[in-house]
Amino acid sequence: MVSATIDLLKKELPVEQTSLLLSQDIKTGLVLVDLVNGFCTVGAGNLAPVQHDKQISCMVQESVRLARLFCEKKWPVFAFLDTHHPDILEPPYPPHCIAGTDEARLVPCLCIIDLQWLENEANATLRRKDCIDGFLGSVDKDGSNLFVDWVNKNQIKAILVVGICTDICVLDFCLRNFRSPIHVAQDIDGALAHPQDLMHHIGLYMAKGRGARIVSEVSFAAE
Ligand SMILES: [Zn+2]
Repeated sequence: MVSATIDLLKKELPVEQTSLLLSQDIKTGLVLVDLVNGFCTVGAGNLAPVQHDKQISCMVQESVRLARLFCEKKWPVFAFLDTHHPDILEPPYPPHCIAGTDEARLVPCLCIIDLQWLENEANATLRRKDCIDGFLGSVDKDGSNLFVDWVNKNQIKAILVVGICTDICVLDFCLRNFRSPIHVAQDIDGALAHPQDLMHHIGLYMAKGRGARIVSEVSFAAE
């Protein structure tokens, strides 16, 4: 029943996927959305996967690969980390990613191997956000927006987005409809509590409707 529904959706709401070749000619920024334990690490919290999920681990591996390559090239990276004050809930979701806990930290493969350099790299910007929409979560008290500043400062012309979940946080970010082209790397998916295949497809379709290009493979041009 579910697979028949998904087949029908894919037919009615097609999401073409292409490959993306990155080169120095188009200044591209990498955006990592919520690669935190609370969403990506098995058993890490209320919104974490309850068991190993191939799609999530593929997404994390690909995100780490891209983050490393971007940092090697000194290309700009922006990482959102969902982080909440313990007294401020985010309905309709149960408590998750509470500040200061492991849930609000980058996943182990970023954390143990990569976090230190990611934090210290001049090309990486980390932003803790307390709402689904990373763009809104980038607004500071003085009205400035860290994400906008990052785009302007780095003169970014295209954005590559990877992360979790394609139907919630990644989607909200893409719905911002930036003037820069957005590429959403596929093989990204959701936590429990929403049907993964179904909502992943719908999320990608909606992102596509806002001008995002869905890419299944990302490679770098030889220099
Ligand atoms: Zn949250």
